[in-house]
Amino acid sequence: MSSSTIEHDKIIFPQSIKAQWQTATDKAARDFRSDVVTVPTEEMMQAVLVASVNDDIYDTEGDPSVKALEARLIELTGMEAALWAVSGTQGNQICLRTHLTQPPHTVLLDHRAHVHCWESGALPVISQACVTMVKPKNGVHLTLDDVKANMIADGNIHFPPTRVVSLENTLSGTILPLKEAQAISKFVRSFPTPDDQKPIAMHLDAARLFDGVVGEGVDIKAYAACFDSMSICLAKGIGAPIGSVILGSKQFINRAKWYRKMLGGGTRQPGMMAAAAHVALDYALPRLANVHSLTKATAQKLESLGYQFALPVQTNMIVLDLAAVGIPAAAFVDYCAEQRVAVFPNGRLVFHHQTSVEGADDLVAALKRLKEAKDNGVVLSEAEVHGGYT
Ligand SMILES: *Cc1c(COP(=O)(O)O)cnc(C)c1O
Repeated sequence: MSSSTIEHDKIIFPQSIKAQWQTATDKAARDFRSDVVTVPTEEMMQAVLVASVNDDIYDTEGDPSVKALEARLIELTGMEAALWAVSGTQGNQICLRTHLTQPPHTVLLDHRAHVHCWESGALPVISQACVTMVKPKNGVHLTLDDVKANMIADGNIHFPPTRVVSLENTLSGTILPLKEAQAISKFVRSFPTPDDQKPIAMHLDAARLFDGVVGEGVDIKAYAACFDSMSICLAKGIGAPIGSVILGSKQFINRAKWYRKMLGGGTRQPGMMAAAAHVALDYALPRLANVHSLTKATAQKLESLGYQFALPVQTNMIVLDLAAVGIPAAAFVDYCAEQRVAVFPNGRLVFHHQTSVEGADDLVAALKRLKEAKDNGVVLSEAEVHGGYT
């Protein structure tokens, strides 16, 4: 099916280059800031070298490596069409822009949604959209009741009607369960709209959808069926160097191509990156369950040390509630750094397929020392720290 099935001669890399990759991999093994910190494997570098190098915009057939990656995601998700994008932000914003036509219009979303909070304010700039920020009543994920209570119907000129419901799975490592997504989807898709309007669209920020479905143990196709568009990150837990893929109907993706071009996403020889992503999927997908096991085992150790969590630990993230145990952010970062473990000050710990058991053990050791220091009345640094926002 894909270009990656073509047999190529294996390129022999010099030791100096391999050593460079090993150093980067060792660093990633103890870096808990995010799952974007993974580095390409040797197989990914091989794939880069043998990838097709068509111009993905001018060459009428596009680029075969990109096409193969898109086809694979279509096959995996059961959606009709796919489109390579440079980043998850670009993917999300292309999708939302493609759904939204002309204001007044509103996107309903979780108050912590990446598309709203973490994308430089793109939504009002690119799509001129208002948002309804909903706080989940259960403190973890949106439910049908949350959505029902916050939809804005057409008809009252004071209020811009809801045109897209944008969900996120996973969100800070927590799962939006399939049953809930199905209930929300059924409700939203049958929500009454005027005759001249399309039905309300369901978008999924699917940056970590693979973690979500593996963590919940549900069928990815059943999940995808709830949505009219999805944006999947390949540079997160999957471990590709660059890239996202958006999915939707053929008509949707044809329209989305215009916005991808407009937003600077019409890349020339992206085959190299698509080929790396293809190999990354082979490598990372079967390893996600192990990543989740290591995350949960580490969480248990931290809990027995007296730490508390701001959110349930369901996939590859532990979100510590440092304030609940009176530990300042600076001390948290410092104690981890002394053990050569990298963390953001917000207390979020992210695991990935290159996280090592030793890295996780050192993290626990650092946090044990920190907790003991706290309990023994040691004065902890309250210096100002930056990065990793809550
Ligand atoms: C990382 C992420 C994105 C996209 O981020 P980029 O850095 O632009 O690739 C989108 N949504 C969520 C939930 C994410 O975590």
